[in-house]
Amino acid sequence: MITLELQEVEIDYCIDCGGIWLDAGELELLLGEPEKAKQLLDSFKIDSNSTEKPRKCPICRKKMQKVIVGSSKPTLLIDRCRRADGLWFDKGELHDIFERANLDKDNKIQTLLNDMFGQDKTE
Ligand SMILES: [Zn+2]
Repeated sequence: MITLELQEVEIDYCIDCGGIWLDAGELELLLGEPEKAKQLLDSFKIDSNSTEKPRKCPICRKKMQKVIVGSSKPTLLIDRCRRADGLWFDKGELHDIFERANLDKDNKIQTLLNDMFGQDKTE
């Protein structure tokens, strides 16, 4: 894992798998729009039937919970520490969650993520 700085928020990025770890509260900081951040976090639902393999929290080493973000399809499933240490995003999922947060089109983070992780934006 390497540490990257995005808008003064330190994020942990795994070079091998492209996943990203955010400590508790960092997603809100990155989103930058408190109302939308709250809406997004309120939409999290625990998925107890998930067949995805559980990941271990990099901080407490316990298995994390699968959490569904929002209700739109395809289902976006992320991993959350049960002790609320933070959130894990598989490759591309951080980008997806920003898509779903309905941020302003020119949101700086979305642009940065596109630059850093090479997600194409076809318009
Ligand atoms: Zn943990």
